[in-house]
Amino acid sequence: MVGDFKVLIIEDDKYISNFLSLSLKNSGYEVFVSPDATDGLFIFSSYHPDLILLDLGLPDMDGLEIIKEIRLTSEVPIIVVSARTQEKEKIEALDFGASDYITKPFHLGELMARIRVAERSLSRSLREYEDNKYENDYLIVDFEKRRVFVDGEEIHLTPIEYKLLHLLITNQGKVLTHNYIIKQIWGYEGGSDTKGLRVFMANLRRKIEKDSSNHRFIMTEVGVGYRFADE
Ligand code: CA
Repeated sequence: MVGDFKVLIIEDDKYISNFLSLSLKNSGYEVFVSPDATDGLFIFSSYHPDLILLDLGLPDMDGLEIIKEIRLTSEVPIIVVSARTQEKEKIEALDFGASDYITKPFHLGELMARIRVAERSLSRSLREYEDNKYENDYLIVDFEKRRVFVDGEEIHLTPIEYKLLHLLITNQGKVLTHNYIIKQIWGYEGGSDTKGLRVFMANLRRKIEKDSSNHRFIMTEVGVGYRFADE
């Protein structure tokens, strides 16, 4: 898939954007770089990149505004590359529609892994679970019949647990914020009340995870939300 995969880097720190650009080019990606939001949005609409690496602190516009603007017309994966370590800002970026985030300083290997996740989720959404089935390791979910199997044994999920699992699987690899999940499952904003969600998630995990100290499928993003294993 690398080769004609285009990545747009919007970052005002020259050192970081040079480093990113070189590394991505070495890995075979086609790269566009913009030091500000205005130029970045222009490149976005002219060249239709397959992925955007976005710095939140830009000279001319807040990165969150860029996410909002892009999401009006496109579902392109946006990975926020940010110096901000505060969970509140990560959550905001995700709720604005960012696909993922990585906090500076980061290892290049970590970023490349995130990019591959985004690439895979792109090719997956093209296939759209055509066989209506998720099958990975010891877990099988038959979306058509709404049946779930662990090690070949059918397990019973409550309707909420099934909805949660379905939501996680159809967004695998992506961080879903508590708020987003609550809105999708119960239809209202959860605010800071994530206790209920935690209880449902614990029950779901008890049913599908074999090792409670080392989760195979449902990962916790501390203070932010959950991520379903990408592979
Ligand atoms: Ca910056």
